[in-house]
Amino acid sequence: MNDVMRFSELLIPTLKETPAEAEVVSHQLLLRAGFIRKLTSGVYSYLPLALRCLRKFEAIIREEMARGGAQELLLPMVQPADLWRESGRWRKYGPELLRFTDRHERESCLGPTHEEVITDLVRMNVHSYRDLPKNLYQIQTKFRDEIRPRFGLMRGREFIMKDGYSFDADEAGAEATYRRMYDAYMRIFARCGLAFRAVEADTGTIGGSFSHEFMVLADTGEDTIVVCHGCDYAANLEKATCRPAPVVGAGEPPAELEKVATPGKRSVAEVTEFLGVSPKRLIKTLVYLADGDPVAVLVRGDHEVQPVKLQNLLGALEVELADDAAVQEAAGVPVGYLGPVGCRLRVVADLEVQRMVNAVTGANEPDAHLRNVNPGRDFTVEQYADLRMVTEEDRCPRCGAGLRLTRGIEVGHIFKLGTAYSEAMEATFLDAEGKQRHFVMGCYGIGVSRTIAAAIEQNHDADGIVWPAPIAPFAVTVLDLSTRKDNVSEVVDGIVQDLAASGLDVLVDDRNERPGIKFKDADLIGIPVRVTVGRRYLSEGRVEVRRRRDGETLNVELAGVVDAVLGLLT
Ligand code: ATP
Ligand code: MG
Repeated sequence: MNDVMRFSELLIPTLKETPAEAEVVSHQLLLRAGFIRKLTSGVYSYLPLALRCLRKFEAIIREEMARGGAQELLLPMVQPADLWRESGRWRKYGPELLRFTDRHERESCLGPTHEEVITDLVRMNVHSYRDLPKNLYQIQTKFRDEIRPRFGLMRGREFIMKDGYSFDADEAGAEATYRRMYDAYMRIFARCGLAFRAVEADTGTIGGSFSHEFMVLADTGEDTIVVCHGCDYAANLEKATCRPAPVVGAGEPPAELEKVATPGKRSVAEVTEFLGVSPKRLIKTLVYLADGDPVAVLVRGDHEVQPVKLQNLLGALEVELADDAAVQEAAGVPVGYLGPVGCRLRVVADLEVQRMVNAVTGANEPDAHLRNVNPGRDFTVEQYADLRMVTEEDRCPRCGAGLRLTRGIEVGHIFKLGTAYSEAMEATFLDAEGKQRHFVMGCYGIGVSRTIAAAIEQNHDADGIVWPAPIAPFAVTVLDLSTRKDNVSEVVDGIVQDLAASGLDVLVDDRNERPGIKFKDADLIGIPVRVTVGRRYLSEGRVEVRRRRDGETLNVELAGVVDAVLGLLT
C-alpha cells in the first residue's frame, strides 16, 4: 500500500501572490506552492511536499549508487581544523568555510565537503590492497557561507548534497571506478525524467576526460553549454570545439597586398560594409592583457575570443580585454586599425585564421586597412590554437551535425582527484609487494536540493510546477468536490484505496474549499495526474482524469480510474 495523505492534515501553505524576494521561477514556485520557507539568508526549511521530492530523488540515487558499487555511510558535519590543516585547505578555502571555536578553544568548521574526513577515515581503517577499491558516499546537509546565496534552493548556504569518494589501488582502478560513477550518474538523472547532458568540464590541470559536470537543461541556467543535434556531444562553452569552418575564398590564388583608405571605419561591420566583403574575410585583431602583459589575438571577423581558452594557452591567471588607451599605448595604433602585419606585440591566433586567404586586416595606422593579407606570407604568429567561441553555425567535432547553444544548471560533478589528498594527508596502503602506496581517489557530488529546483526550472508553466513523475511528491492527486449532501466522499475513498494499492502515492484534496481553489492549487503544486470526483460523477457516473503536463483529459467510469491514471503517467 502506498502513501495516502490528506491536504487538510498536511502543512501546504500555498500563496496567492508571488513573493517579491524570489527572482527565479523555481524559487517563486517553491514558495508559492508551499514547498519551502526561508529561515535566514540561504537557509530554508523543507516542508512536507519538498521533503517528499527529496526522498524520492534520494531513493533513486541510493539504488543507482548501490548498482555502481558504492556504499552509504554518514559522516559528521562538524570537522576539526587540524584535518583541514593537513590538507592545506584551512588556509586555502577562504570565507565560504564557516569556522568556529568550541568551549575548549578547539577550532572547527561546518563541512562544506568531506575529502578530509573521508581520507582520514580510510587511512585509519583500510591498510591493504586486498581491501580495495572502496567507494563510499553519503547524503547530507552541507554548509558553505556563499558570498551571494540566491535563487532559493539553487544556491543556498545550507543545502543537501550527495557526496561520494572512491579509493583505488592504482590509476587503472580509479579510472574504472570513475566510469562506473559516470554511468550511475547518467542513470540517476535519466530516471528522474530530466533533460540533461554530461559535459566535459574544464579542469585546467588534469588531462583526459576525468571531470564531468551534469547539467539540467534550462533557459535560466548559469552556464552556457554546447550540445549536438546529432549525437551526445556536449561541452561547456569554455571547452567546446567544432569542425573547421568553411573558408571564404578557399582556392583563390594569393593576390597582391594592397593598402586601402578606410577613414573613420573601425568596427568589423563598418569596414566590411565599406569594402563590400563578408566579415568572414576579415581578421580581427584584439589586444588582451594577460596578467597585465599585452598580447594581440587574431580571430575571424565573425568569431569571438573565448577568454578561458586564451587563458589556458597563455598560462595566465587572468586575461582581460585592453581598453582603448591601453591598446594605443601597447600597439601604437588606435583601436579599429590594428593588424598582424608589422604588429609590434606578441601575436597568437585562432586556428581558423591560419587557413584564411586574401583577408582584410587593419594596416596598423589610422584610417587604413590592408586587403589580400595571407597568413604565412604576410605575417607569422607565435602560436595557432583553438581560441574562439563555438557558434550555432558550427558543426559537431564528433559527428559533424549542427550545434545548439543552450543553458544548463550544474546538478552534479564527478572528478578524478588522483593522489592530491592521499599525499597531503599521508593516506597509504600496502600493495601486493608490501610497498606503501597512496590511494588514488575520485570524488562525486550531486546537488540534491539544487536538483529539485532545477527540475522546476525545466518543468513549469504559467499555472505552476509540472513535476516529472519520478520525483513528484505524489503521483496523483484526487480532488474531492463533494458537498455535505452527496455520497461522493465514499466514492473518493474507494478510488484512493485502489490507486494506493496499485503502487501510487496519493494526495487527497479533502479541504472544505471551493472547487476553483482546489483546481488552482493542484496546478500550482504540479502533481502529474489529477482525478476529480464531483458533479459529473453524480450526473453521469464519470470521473475526470487529467494529466498536468499537457491537459490531456479522460472521463472514465469508476472501474477505469486506475488504468486511466496509470496510462497518463507513462
Ligand atoms: P558551483 O560552481 O555551483 O558553486 P561547486 O563547483 O562549488 O558548484 P561542488 O563542490 O562540485 O560544487 O559540489 C557538488 C554539487 O553540489 C554541485 O554540482 C552543485 O549541484 C551542488 N552545490 C554546490 N554549491 C551549492 C549551493 N551553494 N547550493 C546548492 N547546491 C550546491
Ligand atoms: Mg561553489
